[in-house]
Amino acid sequence: MATNIPADHPRARSLQTRERMKAAVEEGLVHMTGLIAHGRGEAFDYLLGEKTGPVATAATRKAAAVLLAAERPVLSLNGNVVALAAPELVTLAKAIPATLEVNLFHHTPERVRKLIQVVQDAGADRVLGDAPDMRIPGLASDRGPCHSDGIGGADVILVPLEDGDRCEALKKMGKTVITIDLNPLSRTAKTADVTICDELTRTVEHITTAVLETKAESGHLDRLRTAGVAAALLDWDNQANLRAARDEMIAVLREG
Ligand code: ATP
Repeated sequence: MATNIPADHPRARSLQTRERMKAAVEEGLVHMTGLIAHGRGEAFDYLLGEKTGPVATAATRKAAAVLLAAERPVLSLNGNVVALAAPELVTLAKAIPATLEVNLFHHTPERVRKLIQVVQDAGADRVLGDAPDMRIPGLASDRGPCHSDGIGGADVILVPLEDGDRCEALKKMGKTVITIDLNPLSRTAKTADVTICDELTRTVEHITTAVLETKAESGHLDRLRTAGVAAALLDWDNQANLRAARDEMIAVLREG
């Protein structure tokens, strides 16, 4: 049963999101352990004052540039990501444009099918994930399957809320990895090429805005595509970005 959350409750947004996650578990979209990952994210968002700061904004702009410079960009979707931001991700995928693929830690064909349906209902024409034809090397059992025309063949992948093993395995395949992860200490955050330490729903909209602004600026997109992904990353130091994200959190902790 849904909990009644007063609109003027100071933590209304967070409580509404919890309700959405609870419903997604009941619908079989999110694995139970997804709630634990969500709670970890909430704790780190507290340390950001639950708002987007300048560090995340810089990482978001870099992510948009790298996604636009890519030849075969893919957005990787798991249960939490779909439950929290399916329409926003479809909008982003269309803006880039990028391929969408459902790729799960706790994989069952039924859950993949359900998640694909939710993303299609949110407006996506094509969502990969239900007919994998290759594996991500180095990932055990059911965690490795992917599509060769999706994650397998991508040059740049956005993997939000991901676990460290998969991020490392994608890096070993030679992919450029962008992640959205509120925890600047996670293995994923440390392994990715661009880490946006910010909340998923805020971030996806910000990336879309940055993508659309870049595309609207005369000649910018052509320059990015001509120079390519490596050039887009030349001035980017992800470890410095993570230090800056931790500093933002330390400042919030100090000031209370
Ligand atoms: P790693 O394996 O990379 O060290 P982990 O064990 O924390 O990390 P998961 O349990 O898969 O990996 O967690 C997913 C990550 O997503 C967590 O670090 C959590 O902070 C983050 N996270 C959860 N919810 C959100 C959200 N809404 N927005 C951004 N990040 C989130």
